[in-house]
Amino acid sequence: MIKNVSVIGAGTMGNGIAHVFAQTGHKVVLIDVAAAQLDKALQTIEKNLDRQLAKGTITGQQKQETLQQITVETDLQKGVSGADLVVEAATENEAIKLELFKKIDAAAPQGCILATNTSSISVTKIASVTNRPARVIGMHFMNPVPVMKLVEVINGYATSAEVSAAIVTLSKALGKIPALANDYPGFIANRILMPMINEAVYSLYEGVAGVEAIDTIMKLGMAHPMGPLQLADFIGLDVCLSILNVLHKGFGNPKYAPCPLLVNMVTSGRLGVKSGEGFYTYTHGTKDLVVSDKFR
Ligand code: NAD
Repeated sequence: MIKNVSVIGAGTMGNGIAHVFAQTGHKVVLIDVAAAQLDKALQTIEKNLDRQLAKGTITGQQKQETLQQITVETDLQKGVSGADLVVEAATENEAIKLELFKKIDAAAPQGCILATNTSSISVTKIASVTNRPARVIGMHFMNPVPVMKLVEVINGYATSAEVSAAIVTLSKALGKIPALANDYPGFIANRILMPMINEAVYSLYEGVAGVEAIDTIMKLGMAHPMGPLQLADFIGLDVCLSILNVLHKGFGNPKYAPCPLLVNMVTSGRLGVKSGEGFYTYTHGTKDLVVSDKFR
């Protein structure tokens, strides 16, 4: 029975993951190297709970109970020492994750399941630095976590059937819909999404159409809620580039090679929403979508 959950990394994903676990009755320790990130995460969780309260989907008492379930910690060893499950949502960097999993493995109880929220790093590789590869799994939540229903559950090469079944059951208990994938580059979500985004960038790069036309065609023609270029801006162009590099390297297939325009944009610091400019500019927040001067 999973009751105590430690979430590592209190960034975009970590605060949402902590929110969802706490709201479904789990005790959560939210861990980050940066104390300021922990403060910010608690504020974000409270703000998002207030939004749910305003919509009438939770009561004031449920808001308070959810907040009471969460404690914060900067000491990793202490933070995972009582965990039944650890969900790692730290920065998408292989060296950071491998180092973290060695430490988590040493400090967490023997039976504890270790999950990673990685978008693209091999679960099998992460598991290989631990002494419990059968208990390591991918639990890939989508952004924003309290809203998005999907959890892509990724079985590493050594993940046991028992652990996989436990994470599927748990995902349902969180009110999510799990879908299983095996551990190959990009899993399913990003293996299919990123080539589409890359092809949209190539279409722009080759002058087939402009930003608005590409996004309009995909929105209205394919009933996507957002065009691929706008979505890339939301995900972060640096994140898209790094996932494409994982696909390219992992499969050794040139079809995954990132478009030179995407590479140039990231190199010049145009990362999308988070930097204020990508294919669109976000001068007044994300609501005012203006095609970037370069792509008019
Ligand atoms: P983020 O940059 O917003 O947050 C990462 C957090 O990790 C930061 O607060 C940082 O201080 C912390 N951190 C870094 N090293 C640490 C360490 N050694 N110990 C503890 N904390 C540490 O990143 P994010 O967007 O929340 O992404 C986190 C993970 O989730 C990544 O693996 C990413 O690929 C994955 N993911 C992201 C999205 C998304 O849309 N942003 C979607 C699905 C999955």
